[in-house]
Order: sequence, then structure tokens, then C-alpha cells
Amino acid sequence: MRTLVWFRSDLRRADNVALADACISGDEGVVGLFLTAPLQWRDHGWGAPRVDHVLRSVAVLSERLEAWSVPLLVRRADRFAEAAQAVVAAARETGCGEVIYNRECGEDEMQRDREVEAACREAGLRVTSYNERTVVPPGLVLTQERAKPYTVFTPFYRAWTTWLDAHGWPMPQGDPRRPRLAHGVQSEPVPETLPGFEKPMCAARWPAGELEAGRRLAQFVDKKVSGYDADRSRHDREGTSTLSPYLACGSIAPARCVAAIHPLTERITPYREGARAWLEQIVWREFLAHVLVGYPQVGRGEAFRQAGDALPWRDDEDGFERWCRGETGYPVVDAAMRQLAAEGWMHNRLRMIVAMFLCKDLLIDWRRGERFFMEHLVDADFACNNGGWQWVSGTGTDAVAFPRMFNPETQSRRFDPDGAYLRSWLPELDSLNAKDIHAPWTVPDEPRLRLDYPERMVHHASVRRRFLIAVRDARLIS
Ligand SMILES: Cc1cc2nc3c(=O)[nH]c(=O)nc-3n(C[C@H](O)[C@H](O)[C@H](O)COP(=O)(O)OP(=O)(O)OC[C@H]3O[C@@H](n4cnc5c(N)ncnc54)[C@H](O)[C@@H]3O)c2cc1C
Repeated sequence: MRTLVWFRSDLRRADNVALADACISGDEGVVGLFLTAPLQWRDHGWGAPRVDHVLRSVAVLSERLEAWSVPLLVRRADRFAEAAQAVVAAARETGCGEVIYNRECGEDEMQRDREVEAACREAGLRVTSYNERTVVPPGLVLTQERAKPYTVFTPFYRAWTTWLDAHGWPMPQGDPRRPRLAHGVQSEPVPETLPGFEKPMCAARWPAGELEAGRRLAQFVDKKVSGYDADRSRHDREGTSTLSPYLACGSIAPARCVAAIHPLTERITPYREGARAWLEQIVWREFLAHVLVGYPQVGRGEAFRQAGDALPWRDDEDGFERWCRGETGYPVVDAAMRQLAAEGWMHNRLRMIVAMFLCKDLLIDWRRGERFFMEHLVDADFACNNGGWQWVSGTGTDAVAFPRMFNPETQSRRFDPDGAYLRSWLPELDSLNAKDIHAPWTVPDEPRLRLDYPERMVHHASVRRRFLIAVRDARLIS
């Protein structure tokens, strides 16, 4: 039988469970399919950085599949509701009797897949699907007392590792068996852009594809993991893997990341603490995917802890615009927002600092920031982004307590002591010394007014009081 592999957020040839299965079962050849869904992606808040990275990753995938005798069809199905028809048509046209794919974890994605499966069965096609978005499939680690998905990270982490101890830790699978050529089927061109998603500035920063992802993983394990524990909070250092865009579109399997790092967590080596800390981050990604599947209301714009909706979010258009443009007058916030605009990415600590500033200093609804991030991040991933925003705002599962606020100046001094990060994004502050650059408002008027840098839009100490009063009035603390 000939088999159709439907690629979605698993854009790689190696370590791809669905493709590997198809290469075994498709004894008359394997055909790949990718569907662009620009209107649905727009509805889901994706922006040009993410869409561009996906399209470039599909182009690399197409070349790599072609070299493996697998042609890739690239079709447009504007919304998920059109996917069923497109998949069945592609299978019929190319003589495939079976459709295989790797599952995704959003509610809309799961609904689409149910519709596709029903349409395929009705058309007499066999359908098989696999989990690969996470190492441990959602729904398989549950709390002991109530058999419900975990809502707190630490016990989830323990249960996750226990599950793998019992069921086996992943091993890299590498390339699939090379299938027979699917005669008579040609690969189709991959669009360079889609209407509404003009080419972003940051494409060159993120070369696409699984070889690049593998290179980043190898470099991280070789050079950075030993210092990860100490360096991961330092946004002035390139101490993290920068793998998130590749995990988001599936140019690398999370199982491959875990397989590379888990052995280092077991042995007593100088790498052990760093390796453990990195494994934990990968498990955060797993945790948030399990939360999304287990508590689908978080995918519908709802706060996990609805108490958070009692906060009097301010309707402050000007404040929001200044935050988006990186013109708040707080250097660490502005540098990070400018990096986001230029590169589609920022360090995790910076995401926490700018998110906290928006929803606690400015008291603007975290959902506005969440949407802005989705649109501008190259690694935009609903589960991670929503989880991050809900954690910061205090409305999430395992959230930071409502009253906790980061002081942007203190964070900046602590994690970028020389101000090197600030200098790289705010050249107008270059003349300031390492002490003043974190807080230009402390510089006397005469040099300060020549800086061409905005005055701070709020005073952290007084908006902190405002936020604490709001939290108290909403009875979120007594
Ligand atoms: C407000 C906010 C929004 C975020 N939005 C996203 C998003 O849209 N997409 C995204 O992938 N991550 C998001 N994160 C999580 C995190 O900031 C990024 O995954 C991380 O900065 C990516 O850099 P890295 O690949 O070098 O990470 P590393 O430190 O090398 O970590 C390795 C991998 O672990 C995962 N990871 C690390 N930290 C987290 C975390 N806190 N939560 C979930 N997974 C994590 C990522 O897949 C990451 O690539 C967000 C965090 C916050 C606070």
C-alpha cells in the first residue's frame, strides 16, 4: 500500500514517528503532505516570524524528503475546517490507502483531526496517529489522589520522570528506512510567503531546518550545558540553547533533546547540574502541553484561576503602545521589546520581566501581551506562551503569587551587571556608565535630556502600591 504522511508541527525527516511508520508500512511508496492554513493561523494569532519560519522549514523538509524518495505536496486549506477535504483529495490523487500523522495538542487542532479521521474512514482510508509533541503523551501522568492532570510543576516533574523510568527513556531514532519511490508523484513548490504574513526582519537570525536544529543541540550539549545552571538567568549571555523555534515547528523532536541530555543528568560530571536544569526546562514545555489538553479552557482565553479576572485591568492604549514599541523609559523592558521586534525572540528572563511590567506595573490585561507575543515570536507556541503569561500574571496553574512583582531595574542590574545587553539594543544609552544605564532617570538633567531616550512612563514604587491595592481590593490577598 502507498501511504500519505501529513506533516504539521513535526517538520523533520529524522526521529519522526509517523514518517518512520509510513516508511515501513508504505511498501508502494510514501507521499508527504503539508497544508498551509493562513486564515486559521491568523485566527490563532500567529504572525509573520512564525509563519516565515514554518514555510522555510517546510522548504528544507521538502528537499530532505525528496532525497529520501518521498515527494511533498504543499496545498492550501485556509481554515482547519477545510483540512478533511484536502487530506482525502491528496490521498486519492496519489493512490494512497493510508494516512499517518503526529498529533498536536490544541483544542482546534484536535477537533480538526477528528474531522479528518472521520472523512478518511468514510473514504475507505486507514488512519493512524502518534504522539510526538511531548515525550510523555498528555493524559498519561495524572495525580495519584484524584487521577487528574497535574496543575503544579514539581510533582508533575517527579511523575514524568517516574513514568519514563518505568516505560523507558527515549533514544534517538535517526532517519527512517528509505521507502520505495512513489512513482508518478511530484513534489510541489513551497510558497515563500503568504498574504498577510510579509517577510519578517528576523529570518536570517533563524536558519530553518533539522540540520540547524541538530547543530544547535550539539553545540549546546558540547559548550553550554556545563554553565547552564549558572548562566540561564543571565540575559547578557548566550547561555541557553535557542532551540525553541525549532521545537515549536518540530524541526527537532523533544525526544531527541531528552535523549541527548538525560544521560548527563545521571553521571557525576561537571555537567550534571546544568543538564538537570535544562531537562527541567524541557519538562516545563511538556507540563504546559499536558495542562492545555487536561484543562482546555486555557485555550479559550480563560484564566486558569478565574480569581484573576477580578483585577481592574486598565484600558490604557497609550501605555500598551509604548510597551509594544519599547518606549517605556525602563531600559531592560525597552531593550527586550526592541529585540523582539528585530529578532522575533527574547530570553526567558526578559519575557518574564516585560510580561510582569505589562500586567502588574501597567495593570494591562495579560491577554493583550499574550496576543502581542504570539504575533511577534518566531517560537510562538500557544501552550508555552499562554502558560508563561498566566504564570507571570498570577492567573495560571502553577502561577507566581498575585502580589509578586519584579523590579525591572533590580532585575537588570542583577542579570546584566555591565549593561552589555542594554548597550546592544539601546545605543542611545551607550554613553552611560554601568551603574546609570539601568536607571537613566537617576542621571542629572543636563546629560539626561541629551540622551534621546524617553522618561520612564511610571514609577515602579508607586505603581507597585497601586497593584497591591488592586490585588487586595479584588480579595486576591487578605
Ligand atoms: C511570558 C512568556 C511567554 C513565553 N512564550 C513562549 C512561546 O511562545 N514559545 C516557547 O517555546 N516558549 C515560550 N516561553 C518559554 C521560554 O521563555 C522559552 O521557551 C525560552 O526562552 C526559549 O529559549 P531557549 O530555547 O534558549 O530555551 P532553553 O533554556 O534552552 O530551554 C530549552 C527548551 O525548553 C523549553 N522551555 C524553556 N523554558 C520554558 C518555559 N518557561 N516554559 C515552557 N517551555 C520552556 C523550550 O522549548 C526551550 O527551547 C515563554 C515564557 C514566558 C515567561
